[in-house]
Amino acid sequence: MIRRLVLPEGHLGSEEIVVTGPGLHYLSRVLRLAAGEQVELVDGTGLRFLGRLERISKKEALVLVEAPLPGEPAPARPLHLVYGLSRGRRTEWVLQKATELGVDGVALALCERSVKRPGQEPDKLARWREIVAQAGRQCGRARFPRLHPVQPLAGALELPPPGGTRLLAHPGGVPMAEIGAEVQAGAGHTVLAVGPEGGFTEEEAGLARELGFRAVSLGPNTLRTETAAVALLTVAGFLMGRMTGPGERGKR
Ligand code: SAM
Repeated sequence: MIRRLVLPEGHLGSEEIVVTGPGLHYLSRVLRLAAGEQVELVDGTGLRFLGRLERISKKEALVLVEAPLPGEPAPARPLHLVYGLSRGRRTEWVLQKATELGVDGVALALCERSVKRPGQEPDKLARWREIVAQAGRQCGRARFPRLHPVQPLAGALELPPPGGTRLLAHPGGVPMAEIGAEVQAGAGHTVLAVGPEGGFTEEEAGLARELGFRAVSLGPNTLRTETAAVALLTVAGFLMGRMTGPGERGKR
């Protein structure tokens, strides 16, 4: 199986690529690639190229770009997650799993019941983007989800274009089973919102309703926030026809 290297966005335009820093570490220590071996190159924008490692040293590696490979087109029906900011590990876990499950965009939302740590967001955003890129590489995506900076819930709910299907996971909402056909037949964006550990307040649920979100129930059990995010992404992805064969990525 050919190994994959993620390059920073914009690096796939040239015929020769000098790799240093974390990329070099990954090539030499993780992939243990030797000169002459092939590597698949992606930058998270949907492009995919075949490259060959020309030389590698402790300082840098030189990769020659040999040929374009079929890219990953933008999805016809994008899937977007608005996730109520939760404690460190939970948010990281959700970002990783959401990427694996095919999410196209994630907005992290500061909710009334989010545990706020002002001032830490800029550093964390870089780390979160790295988690998304690693998950994207590991699961074979060439187009990585767009991760928006943390913002208040109202802004996060309004980020995706209006219209489409908009669901807010909220205990007491309409059973998910009752709106399956509607999600299946929908067009445009599908936007899913999941609350933080403490849930959405009724005011927040009301605001989401005003913005076109339908409250949906994922069953009688109270799920942990990260479980709810994965469950809702899985069900919506299935209903949107995303659980296809390996060569059918472009059809979704
Ligand atoms: N006591 C909180 C409440 O009443 O909202 C529980 C919050 S739950 C731990 C965290 C988030 O997961 C919720 O805001 C909701 O988005 C989602 N969630 C958990 N269980 C759910 C269910 N059975 N139906 C719909 N959403 C659920």
